[in-house]
Amino acid sequence: MKVKLLRYTADAERLCGTAALTTIKSGHPSEIFEGIDPDNAKRIIRKVTGYGHGSVIEHASFTFSIEDASRAMTHQLVRHRIASYTQQSQRYVAYDTLADYVTPPSITADPEAKKVFSSTLKNISETYQALLKMGVPKEDARFILPNAAKTNIIVTMNARELRHFFKVRCCARAQWEMRQAATEMLKQAKKATPALFENAGPSCVELGFCSEGKMKPAECSVTETRKTFQNL
Ligand SMILES: Cc1cc2nc3c(=O)[nH]c(=O)nc-3n(C[C@H](O)[C@H](O)[C@H](O)COP(=O)(O)OP(=O)(O)OC[C@H]3O[C@@H](n4cnc5c(N)ncnc54)[C@H](O)[C@@H]3O)c2cc1C
Repeated sequence: MKVKLLRYTADAERLCGTAALTTIKSGHPSEIFEGIDPDNAKRIIRKVTGYGHGSVIEHASFTFSIEDASRAMTHQLVRHRIASYTQQSQRYVAYDTLADYVTPPSITADPEAKKVFSSTLKNISETYQALLKMGVPKEDARFILPNAAKTNIIVTMNARELRHFFKVRCCARAQWEMRQAATEMLKQAKKATPALFENAGPSCVELGFCSEGKMKPAECSVTETRKTFQNL
């Protein structure tokens, strides 16, 4: 799977800083925007989002390309409603080879599981191809495809929704592929606009405590997770 930040709002920090200052200044937002110093923008974003006023960072949007991910992962991704999505269509794009499927690491690591998984995928792939050859349309032949089927998707979220998304999907409780995608998205978004994603990450990083309660995986260390995300 590959994740790439394609585009994000130009001058995102100055823009969100302007939004924050608009609430307390008598001047016009356009003048505030022209005059705002980048460091002042960062400072005001930190202050206002620290109060929990997340709406000011909704003015910055980020568009990612997520490539060669499984349908299992994108099905979870699209549950996030404050976002826009465009996904490769199984009605138009056929699955030609076994390279068109994702194998989870737990299966790759177990020779017996890998054997069963690969032979089932081979059967599915051959049956899918046979259905296409019989004249069955792609939109119907796809009914036999597994969650492992690879896909490409473009997602756009604003910074507030991204922070929420990172809180639940960078967490150790999230599914591995979803977590990998979310963590890479956070890394790239934070590099682009650090002030918008300061302390972003799972709840132990963002809120300072694990919100998962009894569901927290035994192997998850809050100290280690904090270190990882703060250095991302
Ligand atoms: C570890 C994990 C396990 C999961 N397991 C399951 C599962 O077994 N089954 C399942 O069905 N789902 C499961 N989910 C998906 C989960 O229930 C949510 O659908 C998904 O994470 C989207 O999150 P959200 O609803 O908080 O936020 P988003 O859709 O990203 O929305 C962001 C925020 O906007 C607000 N919002 C959005 N829409 C509304 C609305 N209509 N009304 C009021 N407020 C709104 C809420 O505050 C929400 O938190 C799981 C998620 C995780 C992280």
